Amino acid sequence: MIAVVALKGIAGAATATYTCPYGDGLTFTSLAKLQEHVQTEHPGEKVPVSLKWS
Ligand SMILES: [Zn+2]
Repeated sequence: MIAVVALKGIAGAATATYTCPYGDGLTFTSLAKLQEHVQTEHPGEKVPVSLKWS
């Protein structure tokens, strides 16, 4: 299951990256992954819902 998700992420990597807005500089290949990261690593912070980050 994890491998499938990773492959999808690679496929989308050329079009956009999503940078964590909470100062750790991590980037993600999909908004869903960024949302997951924020929920996990930054509990209590607002989860990004917009595609416009840059
Ligand atoms: Zn973060």
